[in-house]
Amino acid sequence: MKPDHKVKIYGKNVDIGCNNGNSRPKCINCRRRIIYTLVFKSDENENFCGLSCLFDMGTTESEESEPEILRRG
Ligand SMILES: [Zn+2]
Repeated sequence: MKPDHKVKIYGKNVDIGCNNGNSRPKCINCRRRIIYTLVFKSDENENFCGLSCLFDMGTTESEESEPEILRRG
């Protein structure tokens, strides 16, 4: 994953941007401040701290067709 890329996840267009530390966005899934250097922004103005939170949101929205996500631990 690199900054300035766009990905499409669960029908959302997600921008991968740099977290410059000035705006300190909050992840809407875990509701924590995003401390990582990368921030995932959807076109609905939602910020995610990482892919796992993105996938969490996606799976809660559509539980019927839960995609297989590799998780460890
Ligand atoms: Zn999060």
